[in-house]
Amino acid sequence: TAVRELLLSRIRDVADYPEPGVMFKDITPLLADPEAFTALTDALADIAVRSGATKIVGLEARGFILGAPVAVRAGLGFIPVRKAGKLPGATLSQAYDLEYGSAEIEVHAEDLNAGDRVLVIDDVLATGGTAEASVQLIRRAGAEVAGVAILMELGFLGGRQRLESALSGALLEAL
Ligand code: IMP
Repeated sequence: TAVRELLLSRIRDVADYPEPGVMFKDITPLLADPEAFTALTDALADIAVRSGATKIVGLEARGFILGAPVAVRAGLGFIPVRKAGKLPGATLSQAYDLEYGSAEIEVHAEDLNAGDRVLVIDDVLATGGTAEASVQLIRRAGAEVAGVAILMELGFLGGRQRLESALSGALLEAL
């Protein structure tokens, strides 16, 4: 579609970042273009409404930039899922494996409860590890996962397969 073409045209490939051999997808040109940023916000807000979500979770850090305007547009609350140690209140945390080592994400425990239906938003799906950990975190908080919506999927990393087995019923939508 025209929207998809516009969005893809505003994502910049940066070679050898953050390390040699990696082709980094940089979304800052998209954010700087109001037409593209608005189109992305509208497309993600459509997914949120269709999914029946009652809350938006954004994954630190670019999931905050994309998720916050979607929450406002869809009339939903925004919940940040952050790297460990950043949230001041009582948290639930979820560890997950990286290629080398591990990472941990957290959410304020009071922000997610039984009866909530959550759409997770992030910019890029790579190995799927971050999104998968967020799904586990949301379910452990007692909430339901409505889906995971991503701007760009790096298909060769197989994140979709890994995530779909964790999603069970919920939707993965890559724009
Ligand atoms: P994963 O856990 O391997 O799927 O990595 C996804 C996380 O890393 C997301 O939070 C992305 O923001 C970030 N990420 C991985 N690769 C890229 C990239 O090429 N561009 C921007 N973000 C990326």
